[in-house]
Amino acid sequence: MNKMDITIVGGGPVGLYLAIRFVQNGFSCRVLEKRTEIDQHSKSLGIHPVSLDLFDQSGITQPFLRYGLKIESGLAFLDYKLAGEVSFRSCPPPHAYILAIPQWKTEEILENKLRDLDRTVLIRGAEVQDIQEINNRVEISYTQEDEKHHLSSDYVIGCDGKHSVVRNSCNIPFEGNSYPDTYMMGDFEDNTEFGNQAAVYLHKKGLVESFPLPSGQRRWVVKTDHYFETPNVKKLTEEVFIRTGYHLGSCENNMLSSFGVQHLMAKTFAYGRMVLAGDAAHIVSPIGGQGMNLGWLDAEACLETFLRIRYSPERQKSELQKYSNQQRRIAQQVAKRANMNMVLGRKESANIWIRNGLKVVLNSPLKHLLARLFTMRGLGRWPV
Ligand SMILES: Cc1cc2nc3c(=O)[nH]c(=O)nc-3n(C[C@H](O)[C@H](O)[C@H](O)COP(=O)(O)OP(=O)(O)OC[C@H]3O[C@@H](n4cnc5c(N)ncnc54)[C@H](O)[C@@H]3O)c2cc1C
Repeated sequence: MNKMDITIVGGGPVGLYLAIRFVQNGFSCRVLEKRTEIDQHSKSLGIHPVSLDLFDQSGITQPFLRYGLKIESGLAFLDYKLAGEVSFRSCPPPHAYILAIPQWKTEEILENKLRDLDRTVLIRGAEVQDIQEINNRVEISYTQEDEKHHLSSDYVIGCDGKHSVVRNSCNIPFEGNSYPDTYMMGDFEDNTEFGNQAAVYLHKKGLVESFPLPSGQRRWVVKTDHYFETPNVKKLTEEVFIRTGYHLGSCENNMLSSFGVQHLMAKTFAYGRMVLAGDAAHIVSPIGGQGMNLGWLDAEACLETFLRIRYSPERQKSELQKYSNQQRRIAQQVAKRANMNMVLGRKESANIWIRNGLKVVLNSPLKHLLARLFTMRGLGRWPV
């Protein structure tokens, strides 16, 4: 059997999960992560059933279930009026729900699991500067505490996010668009009666999304007319009140941010002995909440690819090409779904035809299809 060593650049949610899977499958692996600690800013809040199915295979689901909160359905409102409910309960068992859990907690659980398996794999405070493929090896330079280090590896996987140094060192184009859509979001103490349900408001001023979080918190995401350089609690709570009738003024605010939307995709996810996964390979709109989950699908496909290469090294090139083609296709599908969510949330979507169409869908068997689209079913080899 071919003994390989693999270096993962980036210890975010995708790099950490991939490292767990490599270690579990007997690969020699290390992760270089520039941050000395986990970023406490809560970006992603949802883990989808497809990812929980993967976590089951890896035996890492339990701590997520202990901390997370199960969202089993979502309510849709058209200008304050309940238009229908999308239930995830009809999704295939055992995970017929979306698990709400902040991204920092997800990373903490993954990091603890990786350290339990092998304390030496994750190297924090290590910022990769340069990567070059020379004579069938990949040579990496990184700095840690102002000292320069070098590392040689059979393969490098770039899980280093949007500004990926791995992608840039291969000169792989990152193509796509910025959308005009902008949002403000904040986590507040939950003063609604929704409990574990999500709620989406389509209002003529634009979309509001509201998701439960663990520890009695709720996230509110509001479509804005322009990007707010400095997010503003007053503006956010005012818009939530106007569009939903909920007054958050007296609720404690724990997180506040604004974001714009881009759709970017690397022209290839594999180049020589370097491979891309997660945000390094693709950026999809956060509306719909699928970017991190998509990254885990890349990670699992990447593991399967390297398992095949380990037994048949002569197939390296074709296997990596197959990985790239397959994951690019899946990322395109996810981007289309995210785009649909985003377009629905625009002011113009308050249009009478769209509203009536949505009402019909929400009150027909088609709503099960919506549930499947939201929960990332039917992507590539992942079943509907
Ligand atoms: C507002 C918002 C809400 C979101 N909500 C959701 C959601 O609900 N569900 C969902 O699935 N997704 C969501 N996403 C997307 C999700 O946050 C990302 O897709 C996810 O973080 C990607 O993980 P990653 O590991 O690929 O990259 P990252 O999280 O970007 O991690 C990359 C890591 O690489 C490290 N790194 C970078 N460069 C180097 C270097 N040179 N050397 C060493 N280390 C390096 C970084 O420090 C970082 O830790 C959301 C995003 C935003 C902005």
